Amino acid sequence: MPFTVAIDGPAAAGKGTISKAVARHYGFRHLDTGLLYRATGRRVLDGHDPSEAARGLTPEDLDHPGLRSAEVAEAASRVATMPQVRAALLAFQREFARLGEGAVLDGRDIGTVICPEAEVKLFVTASAEVRAARRHRELSDGTSFEAVLEDVRARDARDIDRADAPLLPATDALTIDTTDLGIEAAVTAAIHAIDARR
Ligand code: C5P
Repeated sequence: MPFTVAIDGPAAAGKGTISKAVARHYGFRHLDTGLLYRATGRRVLDGHDPSEAARGLTPEDLDHPGLRSAEVAEAASRVATMPQVRAALLAFQREFARLGEGAVLDGRDIGTVICPEAEVKLFVTASAEVRAARRHRELSDGTSFEAVLEDVRARDARDIDRADAPLLPATDALTIDTTDLGIEAAVTAAIHAIDARR
């Protein structure tokens, strides 16, 4: 039986780092589901219809070098509010969780919609200010902290307020707040939670 770890939370809370560390620790496969929305958003920027963009994703689309740009992040956040886009990406994510001995999926709706049966559900969060400060440190293009904070808040609002699969912790999720927690301590907390279920 495959073992599934669902890791949800807002942007820059540390879920990507935790997911990769957990996957490495257990030898599980890892899917960053945000990449699916980014790749879809990028195809929409190229002129494709959103549902067609989501349905027609190829492995090459997920490897596109521009997926981390602010422009693509914004487009991803917008296409993520469209039910037809979310529906088109659902089967791939569920299939990924079923294959192999174990899988870690990170995103916004993994514990609530994609894998509600996941053995472990984590909700990784942090204050908007701390998340914006982390993003700001990663950027070297002169964007101001205020602009990054505004962007983080706008993306949070879009994720939380959308009708379809909004960002919220599953009722049985363990919350890890990384506002004042170092990454090592956060990974240790995640591993403890997983060990307790294995
Ligand atoms: O996590 P990341 O910032 O790469 O995700 C890009 C966008 O995709 C997010 O702003 C969010 O709106 C959307 N997303 C989503 N559901 C997921 C993963 C990402 O709505 N499971």
